[in-house]
Amino acid sequence: MSYRVTLIPGDGIGPEVTAAARLVAEATRVGFDWEVVDAGEPAIKKSGSPLPEEVLESIRRTRLCLKGPITTPIGSGFRSVNVALRQQLDLFASVRPARAIAGEGTRFPETDLIVVREATEGLYSGVEHWVDREHSAAESVAVVTRKACDRIVRFAFELARKERRRHVTAVHKANIMKTTGALFQTAFRELAPQYPEIAADERLIDNMCMQLAKKPSEYDVLVTTNLFGDILSDLCAGLAGGLGVAPGALFGDRIAAFEPVHGSAPKYAGQDRADPVAEILCVELLLRHVGERDAADRVFRAVWETIAEKRVVTYDLALPGYTARPVAPSSCSAMAREIARKVPVVDLTAPLPRPAASGGAGLDASLEA
Ligand code: NAD
Repeated sequence: MSYRVTLIPGDGIGPEVTAAARLVAEATRVGFDWEVVDAGEPAIKKSGSPLPEEVLESIRRTRLCLKGPITTPIGSGFRSVNVALRQQLDLFASVRPARAIAGEGTRFPETDLIVVREATEGLYSGVEHWVDREHSAAESVAVVTRKACDRIVRFAFELARKERRRHVTAVHKANIMKTTGALFQTAFRELAPQYPEIAADERLIDNMCMQLAKKPSEYDVLVTTNLFGDILSDLCAGLAGGLGVAPGALFGDRIAAFEPVHGSAPKYAGQDRADPVAEILCVELLLRHVGERDAADRVFRAVWETIAEKRVVTYDLALPGYTARPVAPSSCSAMAREIARKVPVVDLTAPLPRPAASGGAGLDASLEA
């Protein structure tokens, strides 16, 4: 059996981290049949469009996508390919697990959160315009529908049930946003009683940020609207060890796409320095989604052991300022090879190792991020 998967390398560090993820996916010995298609900068060069129709056609056909990050020009230029993909394929649920791996790069080694974010509407609906010719005022419209609120709240509770999570928190700003916020809050209050085994509560977004920065282990699954979810998932990625290790998934009714939380990090493009773990953990999420549990566990464990060992890790897990146990940083491709080597040989029955007390390889002080 092999899985047909649309692979979008993306741009910036995307081609490097997706090559790393592909290497690890292939080490699982689960069969993959990749349909490689371009979006973003490489697609503009080839066809003039950042999101050619063949990309959407391929994903509609395979229903599975592994995606690298894609640059969005700030303030002008083409609209976000990432937002367009979510809207055109109705990938309404963005799921971003924030798990501290081997206690590395975090002050909160117990962090184990899932952020569930509505991904098609809210302030990302793209309804915005200048109010006057001088461009001295602008309006942005947050489109929020009851249908989308119900759908995302139900999704979060079903996910919590499936993953045996015990607590779902709705995050909103209904005290100030009395229509859009209240619509989401009402959906949550009406649906929560259908899941009596799961504790349900609410936080205002500002308070939520403060609570997470102080005691993330008190939270479990967070469900929220588009903009708040975007911000919260980066915050939670930071709590769990940084963008380099934070994977994500997007779900529609029939399609699942997997992409890291991080962007295209243009300053590291082409240097073989970026951390491949976030994209590799997207492969883990993909494997779980298709029911390949053993392979998914192997990928997660190989990542964990590689980070805990700290022999072959990229700069963000190696250098002072990023870690309490500095070592000499390795390249993106070397770290991917190390994880891929471990995948078939890890022992899934042994307890997950904690990190060594001090770093292994010694640090070359000339190396800087
Ligand atoms: P970014 O995530 O690319 O980078 C933020 C910081 O994290 C930078 O310091 C970067 O060097 C570091 N970083 C990110 N990924 C890393 C990795 N794998 N290993 C090591 N360090 C890593 O965010 P940004 O700079 O705000 O955005 C850059 C571009 O990416 C923008 O055009 C943005 O629109 C786009 N973007 C795309 C997606 C996506 O494709 N889903 C998501 C976020 C941002």
